[in-house]
Amino acid sequence: MGKLKGFLEFDRIDESQVNPSERIKNYSEFTISPSPEELNKQGGRCMDCGVPFCHSGCPLGNLIPDFNDAVYKNDWKKALNILHSTNNFPEFTGRLCPAPCEQACVLGLVSPPVSIEMIEKYIVEKGFKEGWIKPIKPTHKTGKKVAVIGSGPAGLAAAQQLNRVGHRVTVFEKDNKIGGLLRYGIPDFKMEKNIIDRRLEILIAEGIEFNTSIEVGKDISTKELEKEFDAIIMCIGASVKRNLPILGSDLKGVIQAMDFLPNSNKFVDKQLSLQKQLSAKNKDVIVIGGGDTGSDCIGTSNRQGAKSVINFEITSKPSEERTNKNPWPFWPFKLKTSSSHEEGSHREWSIMTKEFIGDGKGNLSGLKTVEIKWNHKNEIEEIKGTEKIWPCQMVLLALGFLGPEKSIAEKFELKLNQRGNIQTDEHYKSSKNKIFAAGDARRGQSLIVWAISEGRDVAFEVDKFLMGKSFLTKKNSKGDLISA
Ligand SMILES: Cc1cc2nc3c(=O)[nH]c(=O)nc-3n(C[C@H](O)[C@H](O)[C@H](O)COP(=O)(O)OP(=O)(O)OC[C@H]3O[C@@H](n4cnc5c(N)ncnc54)[C@H](O)[C@@H]3O)c2cc1C
Ligand code: SF4
Repeated sequence: MGKLKGFLEFDRIDESQVNPSERIKNYSEFTISPSPEELNKQGGRCMDCGVPFCHSGCPLGNLIPDFNDAVYKNDWKKALNILHSTNNFPEFTGRLCPAPCEQACVLGLVSPPVSIEMIEKYIVEKGFKEGWIKPIKPTHKTGKKVAVIGSGPAGLAAAQQLNRVGHRVTVFEKDNKIGGLLRYGIPDFKMEKNIIDRRLEILIAEGIEFNTSIEVGKDISTKELEKEFDAIIMCIGASVKRNLPILGSDLKGVIQAMDFLPNSNKFVDKQLSLQKQLSAKNKDVIVIGGGDTGSDCIGTSNRQGAKSVINFEITSKPSEERTNKNPWPFWPFKLKTSSSHEEGSHREWSIMTKEFIGDGKGNLSGLKTVEIKWNHKNEIEEIKGTEKIWPCQMVLLALGFLGPEKSIAEKFELKLNQRGNIQTDEHYKSSKNKIFAAGDARRGQSLIVWAISEGRDVAFEVDKFLMGKSFLTKKNSKGDLISA
């Protein structure tokens, strides 16, 4: 275990951050590393509480007390091996995970939980710095060929797992670069893109073949793929955007968040010129919708030099603390204030947009809202006399997603479930033989940690399908790691 009574001796610390007024001048990550000695102490706060609820809080089943203990004892290499045994890409989760493990940490019942996510990040960063993270090439080849469609975290995790047990893995990606939403959704200030590139180098050296700018169903037919590969995994994400079909939604200046954010990431990556940038500079921006997407729009707008940024949420303001409805160790639905919110934005709750207003020349000049309340049937009721006009020149729609693109599922003749996601059985197998699905395409828009977890699980199922048994591991319904 960490340090006996370490949790009484040391307070929790988080990474410190560059001041908001400074960090919005560029798109770089803005956290400041704690000292190695401080990280040792933070690992020492872990109580090794006997029943590690953090394991079940983490969708990957990360062996948290074990790596905390290794960090406390300054054995970073051991910590890295423990972490990599359940998580292919801790550098993504260590930066971007909302850390449900910390909400399930037993210490969190009486005191701030162990800074698990931060420790995870610095274990893997130490691994890269010391050159400990090297390609692991398969020791044998099975002669089986697997196609992975989509290179987000689900596709990358599935590809790495299957390659390691000797299958020939080819990844098809319709974008020009690998990474899915890690590359073209999440802004650089949350994760710089060299973090994806350095992992990609390892995956390529391990022998995975990557084909970018190839859209399956368009540039290569589904029939061709079915003929050539022994198994196919659909990791195509859930990218169908929800619209706001109200008066004026076609005005210039009403933009989908997932048109705005990829455009900005491409601009930061110098793939686009200033003229082609969808820019918030000197504009009053209203972001409709919350979550990670809304928050990323706020951070990006501020970096682009927006005059003002307002965020609308149709939901009522959540409580600041955990309520009895989601007791420990469950994920608490409470007010989340992200680093982007702290950089400058005004938030409005229980508000509904009724109409976009134009300037008579096709450009957005404002919008009209009404305050609402939720009745006992969970329906919206407008509050009379609360209509308001908000001047704005840019609106970003961050209203969530309606599942994966349907056209490719149709071409493969796959069944969808009631929520419009690819239907699978408990073995991640779709309605068609040898076609599997994982990540957001299967579970709907979710989290990176879930995508990696599903990528690992589907790899186990595909390996078992191809070979009759698997030496990989998968989490069972209780969250325990199993192999078969
Ligand atoms: C703006 C934004 C911010 C987010 N921030 C966070 C965060 O901070 N933390 C967090 O945990 N989660 C976050 N998420 C959610 C997270 O990014 C996703 O849950 C995760 O990326 C899903 O991984 P995936 O591999 O299933 O799909 P994706 O990452 O969506 O990857 C799917 C890939 O499939 C490709 N593809 C689709 N169709 C085809 C085809 N026909 N042929 C070839 N390729 C195809 C796509 O181009 C894409 O690259 C965020 C999401 C968004 C939109
Ligand atoms: S992946 Fe997320 S939930 Fe799992 S240990 Fe890391 S921060 Fe916690």
